[in-house]
Amino acid sequence: MDRRSFIRAGAIGTAATALAAPAIAQGNITWRMVTTWPKNFPGLGVGAQRLADRITAASGGRLTVQVYSAGELVPPLQSLDAVIDGTAEMSHGAAYYWQNKSPALSFFTGVPYGMTTAELTAWVRFLGGQEIWDEIYDQFGVQGFLSGNTGNQTGGWFREELTGLDSIKGLRFRTPGLGGRVWEKMGATVTNMAGGEIFQALQSGTLDAAEFVGPYNDLALGFHQVAKNYYLSSFVEPGLATEVVVDKAKYQALPDDLQAIVRDVSQAEYDMVSADFVANDPRALKTLIEDHGVQVRQFPDDIMQAGAVAAKEVIEELQASDDALVRKTTESYLEALALVRSRTEQIDMPFQAARAKYLDL
Ligand code: CA
Repeated sequence: MDRRSFIRAGAIGTAATALAAPAIAQGNITWRMVTTWPKNFPGLGVGAQRLADRITAASGGRLTVQVYSAGELVPPLQSLDAVIDGTAEMSHGAAYYWQNKSPALSFFTGVPYGMTTAELTAWVRFLGGQEIWDEIYDQFGVQGFLSGNTGNQTGGWFREELTGLDSIKGLRFRTPGLGGRVWEKMGATVTNMAGGEIFQALQSGTLDAAEFVGPYNDLALGFHQVAKNYYLSSFVEPGLATEVVVDKAKYQALPDDLQAIVRDVSQAEYDMVSADFVANDPRALKTLIEDHGVQVRQFPDDIMQAGAVAAKEVIEELQASDDALVRKTTESYLEALALVRSRTEQIDMPFQAARAKYLDL
């Protein structure tokens, strides 16, 4: 390079630096987002990455979100603590993982015999749910937003066919949270373990049965190879929401437009992830049935009925909690459920029943 072209290159370099300078002067921000999901986990892990990318893109890079999948920065079930202690600025997971901080958080993921996806969305957005959620998370200096929903989950994988309520006595079943308490009340021996450990436990016979999410995720983990009875409609997880949690002080310190981007991208992703499950669960279910010979079933009526009785007991225990905020959350949820289920049952369900029965296309 002769001296003249060197000067020209230098001039271009200087110009580029000058163009970049204003953005730097405004202070570009990078946030670390820890997640409870494996990298590229269908629906949920993919949704977490897309949420981060959309915030980065919508802000023109002023707020860049770097994703750390389960275990990369902290163990998955320490994701919320990582935001509380400042290791990360955001966490993507499910509120019911943090029941030990407040049992009220279960309501913001989903509860047995509780709200469907659409009903939960209505409670959080229009019927007081978000305000109570903010009150709960204010105790920890964080703020939560809905970030995705799996829709109604499936009942799970059972090595043997269930003949009725009697056949679940002592059944060794993997199912976490309030759903686990319901199955326990019904007579099952309930354990929890991470998604990645289920396959081997089913294969070795340590477990008789396990539920995880639904066809989209379950197919990926291969449970059909070790249990052939797939019970479809779950009554304990009727529409489970994921959340994104942010450090509230750092969130409130953002300019208004960046706050709006974090909030609105989370809301947009909630809808995106929900649609992903609606589109891909039936595709995966078709593969499970047609390519893998899975036997699909529905729970016998006496199990469904006993599940409702047990679910009512679990909810009544929360209603009687020593913690005023747990009682307040439960009351708000039940009041909203009474309202929204009237629409679901009088308008949606009769139509769905009629379509299933009469439309032959
Ligand atoms: Ca589940």
